[in-house]
Amino acid sequence: MPTTQAFGTTSATAPVASLTIERRDPRPHDVQIEILYCGICHSDLHTARGEWPGTVYPCVPGHEIVGRITAVGDHVKKFKVGDIAGVGCLVDSCRECDNCKEGLEQFCSQGGTFTYNSADKISGGHTFGGYSKSIVVPEDFALHISDKLPLDAVAPLLCAGITTYSPLRHWKVGKGTRVGVLGLGGLGHMGVKLAVAMGAEVTMLSHSPSKEQDAKRLGAHRFVLTSDAEQVKTVSGYFDFILDTVSAEHDYNFYLGLLRVNGVMVCVGVPPQPITVPALNLIFGRKSVAGSLIGGLPETQEMLDFCAEHNIVSDIELIKPDQINEAYERMLKGDVRYRFVIDFKSE
Ligand code: NAP
Ligand code: ZN
Ligand code: ZN
Repeated sequence: MPTTQAFGTTSATAPVASLTIERRDPRPHDVQIEILYCGICHSDLHTARGEWPGTVYPCVPGHEIVGRITAVGDHVKKFKVGDIAGVGCLVDSCRECDNCKEGLEQFCSQGGTFTYNSADKISGGHTFGGYSKSIVVPEDFALHISDKLPLDAVAPLLCAGITTYSPLRHWKVGKGTRVGVLGLGGLGHMGVKLAVAMGAEVTMLSHSPSKEQDAKRLGAHRFVLTSDAEQVKTVSGYFDFILDTVSAEHDYNFYLGLLRVNGVMVCVGVPPQPITVPALNLIFGRKSVAGSLIGGLPETQEMLDFCAEHNIVSDIELIKPDQINEAYERMLKGDVRYRFVIDFKSE
């Protein structure tokens, strides 16, 4: 089997370092992609450091992939060699269950194959993600990328973009919806841009005073510093929809207090600690707490097309593979403006 250079960890405490991994030869419906750019998602860090249960080592993270097709299987129709393609968080699913048929492959009842740290039914091992020079995926799990947008800044759309787009669409956010986006990081900054493009009134809820100007530049109509009681009072009982992107432990009940009657708070951030919400905090005001997981393949393509039409990309800081550990430390401090993207092209 061909090998390729990758970057990953060998234990929860080991730094990200260069590794050699195997990639299969393309099967009839597979495409082989030379990876040009891969975004760094906070899920990569949670997984690499074993903060969630179930990390298998060696762990090669990365699910915000943009690259060039270098080989195609005999039956591939969607792509040809030389095309640009994207790969997000999924690389396979059963395609036969009700959820797959509905285009909700992320909820495949057989268990979808995630881009990294997932059982790989083909190799018998586990999947390796986009912190690598190449990847092989079924053509159905590769996405078309518009040539109108800069490829490095498109990469984060493959996770941060779809993870925020999908709940905004599902809960029908649009003109007149009062949206609060909680946490201005990779997901949060995409949430602001997308909700604004959908016509919503958007407030950034952040614990970082230094991000106020950026929030406005990204399109937020207002900024509320969550540690300032006076500012928070102005949005008490205010929002129809809160998109919670925070990666660390925080008080969900505090933010439920900012919802108006029938309001919904959608959790996309996944702090390792469980949530505690007294029923009364939902009963008074008929409020909901919900969750949302990335998005299926059709919706991911729809999101990419929406971003091309509205000229939306991520705000990125391009790094080299040997800067991944430093990027993780900065991400933990909230010091990311607003997505690190690894440049494999310059290697
Ligand atoms: P990120 O870039 O690190 O952003 C997280 C943001 O949360 C920070 O920028 C910060 O914003 C806020 N924050 C961090 N620590 C905080 C604290 N102690 N108290 C309050 N706020 C804090 O991370 P990301 O890549 O956007 O990912 C966010 C979360 O979503 C992660 O848990 C990730 O695993 C999860 N995720 C879920 C899905 C899904 O499908 N559901 C997909 C991708 C990622 P401020 O400085 O503005 O407060
Ligand atoms: Zn992600
Ligand atoms: Zn399925």
